[in-house]
Amino acid sequence: MAKQRDYYEVLGVPRDTSAEDIRKAYLKLAHKYHPDKTGGDKAAEDKLKEINEAYDVLKNKEKRAKYDQFGHMGEQMGGGEGFGGFGGFGGGGAGGFEAPFDEFFDVLFGRASGGRGGGQRRSAARQGSDLEYRLNISLREAATGTKKKVKFARREVCSDCSGTGAQPGTQPQTCADCQGTGQVRRAQGFFSITQTCTRCRGTGKIITKPCTRCSGTGRSRAERELSVDLPGGVDTGSRLRLSGEGEPGEHGGPRGDLYIYVEVEQDEIFQRDGNDVICEIPVSFVQAIVGDKLKVPTLTGEAELKVPPGTQPGTLFRLRGMGIKDLRGYHKGDQIVRVQVEIPTRISREQRELIERFQQMSNEKTYPLYQRFMEKLKKSLGG
Ligand SMILES: [Zn+2]
Ligand SMILES: [Zn+2]
Repeated sequence: MAKQRDYYEVLGVPRDTSAEDIRKAYLKLAHKYHPDKTGGDKAAEDKLKEINEAYDVLKNKEKRAKYDQFGHMGEQMGGGEGFGGFGGFGGGGAGGFEAPFDEFFDVLFGRASGGRGGGQRRSAARQGSDLEYRLNISLREAATGTKKKVKFARREVCSDCSGTGAQPGTQPQTCADCQGTGQVRRAQGFFSITQTCTRCRGTGKIITKPCTRCSGTGRSRAERELSVDLPGGVDTGSRLRLSGEGEPGEHGGPRGDLYIYVEVEQDEIFQRDGNDVICEIPVSFVQAIVGDKLKVPTLTGEAELKVPPGTQPGTLFRLRGMGIKDLRGYHKGDQIVRVQVEIPTRISREQRELIERFQQMSNEKTYPLYQRFMEKLKKSLGG
């Protein structure tokens, strides 16, 4: 992914600027880079996309506050909003994404659209639908960050007809029913009502010879593969937006976006607690008594852990910096090792004799916990 520019910089406004000034700056830039002005220049199109993206965040009070605090990462973090915060996916048109384009086109074409193209209504450019992709990764991958291949199907503009749906070499004909306006007027009693033309379905054009490649739809399905860089520290619910990787737009509108929702799988050994991971390591009762150097698994390999003599069950050891990377680049988390002391349940006769001998050799110093308990019990009974 290309590095994203600062949104304030994109709109050319200072950070403490008012909402109204953000709006003004946006509209000015949107006019400047509109495809009608630039003739569909690719660089201008990208620029416009960037402007739209910046405005989409900065016009929204909540999104802006989050962006101010966390930068671009703030957008990508699912956080509390999680999946619910994102409305109707895969719906028609601009989908759940509140496209700044609506506002933009209001201003450009609004009431002043009369003289354009000999009275023909221009179909408004619309951003394509957003796509959603669920990406499962392991906890180990989430800890360090990973590169993942994402393969998904989306529609592409048909390469034969460039999306017009008409067989190459032929032109779509102006619809005779509506004279290309896409709307027809029908008298009904005293009134006349305007309806979308049924013959051309409002497009104003009739395709007489459909493109054979796409059967006149102007779109074809294609597999797309992308390589996604996931930063270390991502968690279930983290969201990544890949701008312009969604469905193609209508009438020259930009593509929708691809949203990647991360799902971190449960690990057999490690349990995540924020940026820390906790794991339980069984040690024998002998190791707990005499102490030992253990090799413990970590998220990236192995580490040595010294268990001192007399280690009690449930003792926690902290391996600093052996946890999960921080998404915002702060301190790495720790690995917490919880000692589980294993008491054998099946022993041989010889082992039993040894342990009984050990018991015979024990005195009050061997079991201070027991001694303290007995003293407390005496007091409790009023002795
Ligand atoms: Zn085609
Ligand atoms: Zn028509």
